[in-house]
Amino acid sequence: SIAYLNGEYLPLEEARISPLDRGFLFGDGIYEVIPYYGGKSVGLMPHINRMINGLAAIEIQNTISADDWKALLDDLVARNASQGENLGVYVHVSRGADVKRFHAYPEDVAPTVFAFAFPIKDPQPVDRTKATPMSMISTEDLRWQRCHIKSTALLGNVMHFQQGYAAGCGETLLFNAKGELTEGSSSNAYIVKDGKVITPIQDNQILPGITRRIIIDSLKAEGSIEVEERIVTMDEVREADELWVSSSSKEIAPVTSLDGKPVGNGEIGEVWEKAFKIYSSAKFDF
Ligand code: PLP
Repeated sequence: SIAYLNGEYLPLEEARISPLDRGFLFGDGIYEVIPYYGGKSVGLMPHINRMINGLAAIEIQNTISADDWKALLDDLVARNASQGENLGVYVHVSRGADVKRFHAYPEDVAPTVFAFAFPIKDPQPVDRTKATPMSMISTEDLRWQRCHIKSTALLGNVMHFQQGYAAGCGETLLFNAKGELTEGSSSNAYIVKDGKVITPIQDNQILPGITRRIIIDSLKAEGSIEVEERIVTMDEVREADELWVSSSSKEIAPVTSLDGKPVGNGEIGEVWEKAFKIYSSAKFDF
């Protein structure tokens, strides 16, 4: 595997950073994961723009233009072609290594820029009789109030993911203190009721997922499935016909069991199949 580190390409196992790096000491950084299928990216510019916005939000200087980021990441994928058809690219920009461990943002410290590529699974079959369903548990969202920033400080997400994983589930569904759905520990969430797709509003309680954006925009453009962004209560989740989660690595995952109970009739839904078909034919346009 060939990695990119601070302007150089090198074998991943040879990449080294300082233990004083603020990404290591504080989780002080921004990251992205971008999927490439057969060499074609999904949502590359939206991912790059979200990263640039995240860096600005936490005042890390970004010296690489959006076009140069694109060239860099496409180049990294080309250099890793031997790893397979489908690759994910992990990109990470931390505030860099300071001489002292001090909370305030240091001046005159160069950010650490790191990226590597890794094999990812083939997309799910769009046929709902052949796709793999997911089980979830739900729990109160105990992360911070800036979930819209794609921070490398993921302990809150990791602890929530582990709760589901330890219970034999593929994801953990999160709700706020008011009993409203937020998102999964590493994904956005959707319910389907009476044929309509409903997903929580994009605010500071959720990550503005690129897959979420592609789903909403492609469904709206195609026009046969209604999509609504609004507050979703956990009571509505428990009464839903279908439940899905989305992310760059999961695409749209159908959830058929929540807290040990079937979602809807307990089978992968018809709306999932239709929506996943629409998403799959549009995803490379983003
Ligand atoms: N929400 C959280 C907390 C995530 O970590 C992720 C992605 O990893 C997502 C949502 C989905 O975002 P995207 O579709 O951009 O991968």
